Amino acid sequence: MLGRERPQLKKESADESFPPQVARAGAALRLTITFMLVVVMVFLAVEGWRTWRDYRSAFASARDSVTNLARATAQHAEDTIRQVDVVTAALSERVEGDGLQNIDIPRIHKLLVQQSAIMPQLHGLFIYGPDGQWIVTDKQTTPDSANNADRDYFQYHRTHEDRSVRIGEVIRSRSTNDLIIPISRRLNNPDGSFAGVLLGTVKVSYFVDYYGDFKIDDKGALVLALRDGTILVRRPFVASVVGKSLVNSVIFRDHLPNSNQGVAEARAVVDGTERIYGYRALTTYPLVVEAGLSRESIITPWRHDLLKTGFVLIFLIVILVGFGLIVLSQLRYRMTMEKQIRSAHQTMRDMALTDSLTGLGNRRRLDIALADEIRRARRQHASLALIMLDVDYFKRYNDKYGHAAGDDCLRAIAGAIQQAIKRPGDLAVRYGGEEFTILLPDTHSAGAATIAQEILESIRALNIEHGDHPLGLVTASAGITTCRPSIEDVTPAMLIKAADAFLYLAKNTGRNRWCSPDASPG
Ligand code: GH3
Ligand code: MG
Ligand code: MG
Repeated sequence: MLGRERPQLKKESADESFPPQVARAGAALRLTITFMLVVVMVFLAVEGWRTWRDYRSAFASARDSVTNLARATAQHAEDTIRQVDVVTAALSERVEGDGLQNIDIPRIHKLLVQQSAIMPQLHGLFIYGPDGQWIVTDKQTTPDSANNADRDYFQYHRTHEDRSVRIGEVIRSRSTNDLIIPISRRLNNPDGSFAGVLLGTVKVSYFVDYYGDFKIDDKGALVLALRDGTILVRRPFVASVVGKSLVNSVIFRDHLPNSNQGVAEARAVVDGTERIYGYRALTTYPLVVEAGLSRESIITPWRHDLLKTGFVLIFLIVILVGFGLIVLSQLRYRMTMEKQIRSAHQTMRDMALTDSLTGLGNRRRLDIALADEIRRARRQHASLALIMLDVDYFKRYNDKYGHAAGDDCLRAIAGAIQQAIKRPGDLAVRYGGEEFTILLPDTHSAGAATIAQEILESIRALNIEHGDHPLGLVTASAGITTCRPSIEDVTPAMLIKAADAFLYLAKNTGRNRWCSPDASPG
């Protein structure tokens, strides 16, 4: 039983429920904080995930859009050029069949006018002789001096024998001053020598109008370029950009050599805007189209949404944290109050169970402890000892030295008793007047006698003068009783009565001694 705590009478105590309550409040505090943190984390995680998903989906849908745009513009460019290709192919066959010198100019002119009328993209159809002289066109008047020998396409066909259609860089028309894309073919004489050039010109404005119809953002771009990178048309249209080269752009440099179509993020060479581009190189003609949406236009709606939900989220978190702080402060207040009440209760309890003169426990404390220890000893099959101690001739001491000195004497004796008991489970109380009781759990008769002997010696060792005592100093007498509650029926009253009887015996046999059932007076 060594190391066992002194019985604190907790089972009987009214404040038994405080520690669990305080523990519960502490747990509630931790739970509230954890709950708040978890809710905030969940909010942030869900919103973070949603925002990331929106960001990705904005870019995914932009990629789809630019892919579709590139496909539509590529198809349009191909159709536009193919129509001119077909018309010029048929015309070339006819003109070469007739021979350029023999053609019926009014009939061919009529034919050109007809063809030109049904093709909205067409700016004009022209047939030039080997020296560049205009022979017939779809125009009503042909200037006598008109000569296009200096044009790039003319020079090309004169020096190259290939018969396929050639798409040239944008030029300004000499007849109408419009920007046009020349689509030309070489005309041969029957012997294969150069007979002239057949030219169809496509209005740049035709593409500009078509590109203008697409609903894309202000910073979006649509580009039609030659395969060598030379810009033919661009939206937004700025005349000065036409003819510039994209050969050093990311798409022409890094992507087109590997793939004829795709999507790429790039900063535009022309205006420095960052865009997502869908690009496509035509397989039938040496043309490339690019359709780009600005990164800003993709991100801006997403950013607005992020700001809105961010504000709502912050608002919610602030409300949650505010609410949580109120709950926390309430809990803290409750914990503090409970602590104070508990400590006040403990103080009252200590006061109720403590003897104010000596600081030992009082009789009430003994009553509680005794019942408790009897039950414990019964459970553990242990023995239990009780010493009843009474100061000898104390009335005389009071009479001789006064009541105050009597009190001092009682305090000194209480100190001596307290020092003599060593085990944490032992309990000394002032039973009343100049009587003390020492409860010794798990102690046999011999052990109790040793303790009683030590206590009596300690009191003598105090060496308090007592003139009306035969020995001349303060002494005490003690009665000891021991029991085994597991084998005998014992009550607190029986134990006290038995100890009292042996105390009476000690008094009657000369005082300054202890008596017990097993030992003769010491
Ligand atoms: P005995 O040896 O037979 O025990 O004689 P006694 O005089 O000690 O016993 P008695 O019961 O006749 O007297 C007890 C005295 O203890 C009576 C009272 O004056 C004194 N006493 C009781 N309580 C107190 C106290 O709180 N303070 C003081 N100073 N004296 C007390
Ligand atoms: Mg007495
Ligand atoms: Mg006495």
